[in-house]
Amino acid sequence: AAKRAGQTYRRWEPALDEQSSGHARLGAEMRVGLDTGQFRVVYQPIVAFPQGRVAAVEALVRWVHPHRGMVSPADFVPVAEQNGLIIELGTWIMRTACRQMARWRAELGADTPDKVSVNVSARQLVRPDFAATVADILAETGLPPRHLAVEVTETAVFEGGQAVTTLHELRKLGVRIALDDFGTGHSSLGLLQTVPVDILKVDKSFVDNVTEAGRHSVIAEALIRISTELGMTAVAEGVETAEQADALHRLGYTLLQGYHFSRPVAEPDFGPRSTATAGV
Ligand code: C2E
Ligand code: CA
Ligand code: CA
Ligand code: CA
Repeated sequence: AAKRAGQTYRRWEPALDEQSSGHARLGAEMRVGLDTGQFRVVYQPIVAFPQGRVAAVEALVRWVHPHRGMVSPADFVPVAEQNGLIIELGTWIMRTACRQMARWRAELGADTPDKVSVNVSARQLVRPDFAATVADILAETGLPPRHLAVEVTETAVFEGGQAVTTLHELRKLGVRIALDDFGTGHSSLGLLQTVPVDILKVDKSFVDNVTEAGRHSVIAEALIRISTELGMTAVAEGVETAEQADALHRLGYTLLQGYHFSRPVAEPDFGPRSTATAGV
């Protein structure tokens, strides 16, 4: 049951006219939540397929609200971006994930996944002190920078400016850059010319129908070729079935993430796992 606990959300859906006062209330409750330890970080494995080793984990924030129950980040992250709390929350998430990764490395040695990947919002990236904050957290937790990746969306870096400068600074530290939800922005391919990217996270929408002939599998195939030719690593997100995993494997994907392998959990199982699938 603990494994599923991270996923059962109660949606926060105020009527439109109540939305701004609802947001204000949610914002005030987040402040309390931050001060009283209501936030958690869970980790979803990114699996080397078909071998089955957990190659990396993505850190995902959870809010266990005393009355509302589990509130989805899709509901509270946008509110935190609006009211600025994302800066404090994001720093807490980064510190928690780096500390956890350092602890796993100390406890598990070679079984530890190679990277923890942390979602970073646009509001964090445009701060000129963001890279220095990350450097401080790495120093404080003792996590070598190559074991950290930051996940940024295309829209966060679309306008260039300080956000892209920050990515160059992070990369200089040795932190890896992952472009999240890849393929869903307005100028996905154009961005690859200007933004330093190590990892492409191919959006779930291209994975959903990858088993069917037609446009989705063509795009998934094009994206793995582009990432390989540009020397980037591709991760397919939102893999829910063995058939999708097999189809992605045939297209050349080797890193897969999704409910088929594991939901996000507090303590992933890094032991050897079987990924035996229908056709293999
Ligand atoms: P995302 O970064 O694209 O994260 C992937 C989301 O898809 C996660 O939802 C994950 O639990 C879910 N997911 C993973 N595998 C599957 C699958 O096979 N099927 C389906 N249907 N879903 C799957 P989650 O944790 O609710 O997060 C939603 C979004 O909230 C994230 O999308 C990200 O944009 C944001 N978010 C989550 N954690 C953080 C955080 O720590 N910081 C920031 N800034 N944003 C976060
Ligand atoms: Ca992400
Ligand atoms: Ca994503
Ligand atoms: Ca997303």
